Amino acid sequence: MRRFMPGLRPLVLCLLALGPGARVYAQQPATASQVLRLMGCRFELTAVATTDTIAWQAIRAGVAEIQRIERLISSWDENSQTSAINRNAGVQPMRVDRELYDLIYRAKKVSQLTHGAFDISFASMDKIWHFDGTMLSLPTPEAVAEARQYINWQDIELNPTAQTVFLRRAGMKIGFGAIGKGYAANRAKALLQALPGVQGGLVNASGDLISWGTPPTDAGWVIKIADPKNKHQVLGWLQIGDMAVVTSGDYERYLEFDGVRYAHIIDPRTGYPTTGIKSVTVVCPDAELADALATSVFVLGKTAGLELVNQLKGVACLIVTDDDELFSSTDLQLNYYSSSTNN
Ligand code: ADP
Ligand code: MG
Repeated sequence: MRRFMPGLRPLVLCLLALGPGARVYAQQPATASQVLRLMGCRFELTAVATTDTIAWQAIRAGVAEIQRIERLISSWDENSQTSAINRNAGVQPMRVDRELYDLIYRAKKVSQLTHGAFDISFASMDKIWHFDGTMLSLPTPEAVAEARQYINWQDIELNPTAQTVFLRRAGMKIGFGAIGKGYAANRAKALLQALPGVQGGLVNASGDLISWGTPPTDAGWVIKIADPKNKHQVLGWLQIGDMAVVTSGDYERYLEFDGVRYAHIIDPRTGYPTTGIKSVTVVCPDAELADALATSVFVLGKTAGLELVNQLKGVACLIVTDDDELFSSTDLQLNYYSSSTNN
């Protein structure tokens, strides 16, 4: 379960199990919560509503929405519009749904903002780097250089009138691994929020989470941050409401060669996976932006990454380096526990 893995995956304390004596108030909201696998990862949806029935209806609607998005954006599913774009790289522009077009448009905006650190066309490196434990040695520099030349967000051509997407060069490929979960979390949240009777909720896509409205209990929406130096210790906590907290950095998916640890995020400038950072948590109201920025900070590194985040209004971040050092942006509202009492 990734949420409780060592390191900085936020640990969400929703306190969903109300004790027997807790339901004494007539207006106590009902809470439904479900954990399931969507988009290849663990999702948790929680809805707080006026009745149990509404809460469960909301969960089902949220799940269906995430499944719908997965069918649209997956680059693994050969029937998705994303796969059609990839198949037609260097061949022809593909007309896509407005929703996918807009997602790609926003992804390009993040590329612009991060000077190319974030780039959905990183996916041409898919054939070189495998983060599933099957790689026994580094690829040759020639193979890396060959695949890298196809990464360029400026070669993702968008035509707003025709609503088409065209990857200008054969060999290019796009993938939404760094933004899709955040987008899905946003959409599920928006859908639940619009349902009559739903008062609050939380969508947690393997550590990319967003919460809003009424929490299940008076404890509020509390996100615990584990201490990277000791997985059993909680370093601090964030009390959030209407906010996304997104962590990039998967402690299972990394490579290690000659003592160098490579994260599962590609630096588009070199074609090599990033080094130096173990995990990045971004806090801001929008899960999609937080997702994209967390990945970007990995690529930019701690100095340029913090510089970027400090320039963005309403965005905060926490970085854990490979040496377990912590760095935070100037306005991160993290509450620290005193060392002996945290668990
Ligand atoms: P996590 O999987 O831990 O949530 P991210 O949100 O950072 O982390 O997503 C990592 C994924 O993003 C990679 O598995 C890959 O699919 C994709 N990716 C890798 N490098 C880049 C990049 N430079 N820009 C955009 N997407 C990337
Ligand atoms: Mg991301």
